[in-house]
Amino acid sequence: MRLLVTGGAGYVGSVCSRVLIEAGHELTVIDNLSTGNREAVAPGARFVQGDVADVAADVLGEESFDGVVHFAARSLVGESVEKPELYWYGNVVETLALLEAMRQTVTPRLVFSSTAATYGEPEVVPIVESAPTRPTNPYGATKLAIDHAIADYCHAHGLAAVSLRYFNVAGAYGGAGENRAIETHLIPIVLQAALGIRPDVKIFGTDFPTDDGTAIRDYIHVADLADAHLLALESAISGRHAVYNLGSGTGYSVREVISTCMDVTGIDIPVQEAPRRAGDPAVLIASSDKAIAELGWKPTRTELPTIVSDAWDFTRTLAEHTSA
Ligand code: UDP
Repeated sequence: MRLLVTGGAGYVGSVCSRVLIEAGHELTVIDNLSTGNREAVAPGARFVQGDVADVAADVLGEESFDGVVHFAARSLVGESVEKPELYWYGNVVETLALLEAMRQTVTPRLVFSSTAATYGEPEVVPIVESAPTRPTNPYGATKLAIDHAIADYCHAHGLAAVSLRYFNVAGAYGGAGENRAIETHLIPIVLQAALGIRPDVKIFGTDFPTDDGTAIRDYIHVADLADAHLLALESAISGRHAVYNLGSGTGYSVREVISTCMDVTGIDIPVQEAPRRAGDPAVLIASSDKAIAELGWKPTRTELPTIVSDAWDFTRTLAEHTSA
């Protein structure tokens, strides 16, 4: 398929681009490079720099595209609580412009990066797609608003769309991984502390209602996540908006993640306890049964040590490259 990939210079977008190209798709990537890196754009993809709202309509108007894979977004829970305006404009307004550009150019397919944060604090885990959606932060609220807009475009205009609700994506693939100017995610932070790039790891909250008091998350390997995007593109049907959770189905506490990182790296990592971060739910674990049954998705890298080990290889290589 000829595909437009937004946010292809970011972490998930750069890995998925590689997997899409390996599967034979032809890619044009757009990214404003506000948080992404030009070097991360997949070799073989055409690159256009700009905001989605500014350039998507022109790119889609140049030639006929089979679909859009829309990664470009702001995605930090804590930042979204402090600066919601970045999220309502950067996520919702930009995506509404993309949907309009797709409608006007009759671009048939959309795969959208939604999130576990659309569910908020779950009543029951693992979380299924029919669970109530009550986001506890503006990040989740903006992604949910977009999911609603996409559903309306499917029903009214025949768009074929799939929203993939990512749980905690980690790991690396094909030389692409987590490489942000300001890192806030747990696994890369712990690995940077292992390398001495930062002095310690702060555990945000030790009073959650969990066995060890720290928050539990479901970590999914970015390469497994990328495979789901291939399947989603193939499965999309005109007039239907399908929603799938993507996780490994196993929850790990912050303390368990740190301990796995120590095992994988063989390094004793200094830890400090700190207050909870605003907007963080206690437990998020996915049921991915629907993706497995309907998409035929087969995650193969579900063990946390595998995910951490791939992230560790990437983080070390990046650190050597940066210091060289
Ligand atoms: N976390 C932490 N210390 C850090 C970064 C994250 O304790 O330096 C916790 C965070 O509060 C959450 C979990 O680790 O409970 C995963 O956070 P992350 O930012 O990686 O992903 P999120 O769940 O926010 O999407």
